[in-house]
Amino acid sequence: MTSAINWHTKLQRKLQIQFSLHFDTAWRIGSGKEGETLSDLGVVLDPSGQPVLPGSSLKGRLRSTCETLAHALGLSACMLDSAVSNCECSSDVQYYRRVREDYRKASQAGVAERLEWIEKHTCDVCKLYGSPVMAGRLRISDGTIEDWAEVIQVRDGVVIDRDSQTAVDGLKYDYEVVPPGSRFRVTIDVENYSDADLALLGAAIFEWSSGSTVGGFTSRGLGRFHLEDVCIRGVDLSDPNQRIQFLTNRTAEDRLTDLGNWEEFFSSKIESAVSTQST
Ligand SMILES: [Zn+2]
Repeated sequence: MTSAINWHTKLQRKLQIQFSLHFDTAWRIGSGKEGETLSDLGVVLDPSGQPVLPGSSLKGRLRSTCETLAHALGLSACMLDSAVSNCECSSDVQYYRRVREDYRKASQAGVAERLEWIEKHTCDVCKLYGSPVMAGRLRISDGTIEDWAEVIQVRDGVVIDRDSQTAVDGLKYDYEVVPPGSRFRVTIDVENYSDADLALLGAAIFEWSSGSTVGGFTSRGLGRFHLEDVCIRGVDLSDPNQRIQFLTNRTAEDRLTDLGNWEEFFSSKIESAVSTQST
């Protein structure tokens, strides 16, 4: 069980994925207050007035992409609701309530027993993204802006009556959007990943490359994006050469080893996940 403790407490290996996220349409991630333009619904801007693409929003979206693809890979996803997914995972409040005493006993028995319990009672998606009993293995940066139109647009919305499905007279509001064509550089880091983590993440990167959505009002056509210039780097500290490279360089580019073509890399991980399930 020493190996299980090492696995969770020491960096063994790390994968870094970087890409440019291109918005094909306008998009908005709401600030929850009035906008700079005094519209009713603002977008999140940094102090210099540039739009912010928060890592937390991207992570939430990436997680839900992984959830929808998990079954195709033969992996488990609790969807944070065991009753709906039929998958028992400690992230589901109802399930956790039932096994809480069991978890408490395992925790008292020692670190190895606690980790073993978590491994057994956590779905594949929550192992990657984290659960109430264990931190996740994945981090995602805020987007670094590469290009944008340098203006915020304001659009009109009308309030729709849910019963009649028609506009309610006189009830209008407006909301801010970032115009189409903006582009952000994003970095994802995954530490001590498993084969299942790479299959899930790889399938999600393929999905995002073909096109996905993020942010608010996606049902009105906002928030469509795709990925370009995906590159992957990594380090495996069990390899002495990679270890020296990692420990003696300053920039991420130099510390990590280029892993080549991302499509080939992730295809092989996805193929082995699928074939493991069908054998
Ligand atoms: Zn779960």
